[in-house]
Amino acid sequence: MGLPASRLLQSTYLGPFSWRWPEGVEHFERGWVALVEVNGSEVHIRHGVNRRDVFGGSRPHSVTWVENDPTVEGVGADDYDETRSLLSLIKVTKKHLKPGEPLPPGYAEFQTAIMAAAAQGPYSPRSMAVRIREDDIDRWSRHAILRAAAWGRLKLGGAKWERTSLPSPKSAGPAPASAPTLVSAEQQGAVVSALLAYAATKPQPPPGTAVKFTPVPEANEFLRTNPFAFLLAVIFDQGVPAERAWRAPYELRQRLGHLDPEKVAGDLPAVAGAIAAEPKLHRYIEKMPRWIVAAAGRVMTDWGGDAGQIWSGEPRADEVQQRFDAFTGIGQKKAAMAVEILERDMGVPIKAMERSDVAYDVHLRRVFLRARLADHDDRDHMIARARELHAKRPGELDYPTWLVGRGWCHPGVPECAPCPLTAVCAKDIERAAHVTSG
Ligand code: SF4
Repeated sequence: MGLPASRLLQSTYLGPFSWRWPEGVEHFERGWVALVEVNGSEVHIRHGVNRRDVFGGSRPHSVTWVENDPTVEGVGADDYDETRSLLSLIKVTKKHLKPGEPLPPGYAEFQTAIMAAAAQGPYSPRSMAVRIREDDIDRWSRHAILRAAAWGRLKLGGAKWERTSLPSPKSAGPAPASAPTLVSAEQQGAVVSALLAYAATKPQPPPGTAVKFTPVPEANEFLRTNPFAFLLAVIFDQGVPAERAWRAPYELRQRLGHLDPEKVAGDLPAVAGAIAAEPKLHRYIEKMPRWIVAAAGRVMTDWGGDAGQIWSGEPRADEVQQRFDAFTGIGQKKAAMAVEILERDMGVPIKAMERSDVAYDVHLRRVFLRARLADHDDRDHMIARARELHAKRPGELDYPTWLVGRGWCHPGVPECAPCPLTAVCAKDIERAAHVTSG
């Protein structure tokens, strides 16, 4: 058959479910089912996500079924925590596609990467892969359909499907996302009130006077007075304790002798050497220097060499978030966080804070799921829930949720007794069992 034309008709999120392979049962923590029209016929797609040992370490992992066939697998990218992306090999023949070989028909619109570069590990192949966000149902469906068609497994036009091994949501046991999982509106309001009340107990220094991200006063002052340092701290804030990340721009300046965006943009070797020198400024000594240099380049080309222009002129909250989001190494989580910090802690005038958002990170995911403020673990859903719960300023929920997640709502067994939410939280601990990183 020629290139299949597909269109997503509908989809539903799934809770945990299991799949029986010949060698045993595999459990998936979440997923979705979708109905896709392919060349005029309806095709069922199922997608499951769990964690598995891949390429020498534990990573997010997915399987996508086309009708009864497990068809494509996904492996969490190294930057999964930031991008929620998984990688899946491009295999229209049984061989891997190698770098430099032409993309097969249908793949031009996909983001691609070399698996060994984007998911580094001892067994990761130097083969081409598509990079797809975990919640991009349309692209996962199309990738699976392209593979199924290329392998001659896509039977359309009235062919009778064999569905014996494709469990329906009922028989397989997954809980559809439509199951009532939220607490009452009254209880949701009580949790929000408890979060805001807890935030109010935190000392609030006069805006713009005392940023205390690190125990080093000079580093704090540097963040307050140097916008490029602030931007770099946002980029550094991944995969390491926040205190270490926010101190890194100050240390980088000490090591380079400057923190001039123009010089940084043009000297990757120097930046890489400064970050990798012991004690390392960051655990990501490969990609962090590239992100820093790319950020410096963008500051030069888009912001006239002055990172402070990103948030000058009293822009709207959503505009500032989009501007941060445009930097490599900054995704929704860090962009939303940056907006809140600028406005709340640094006294930067930002208008329309009702357009601010929570940062979709492990702490938010755990607290929102366990308190039953969200009914499934999806970035857009949780952001939408925060907008509903606190329309006046959704991003205001971010800081207390982060503190609760960091302080009490741990992976595994949380410390509910001393938690500020204990009197109002649903304590549905198992609902966040899959949220293990961070
Ligand atoms: S620690 Fe317990 S009470 Fe606090 S948010 Fe988590 S589950 Fe709820």
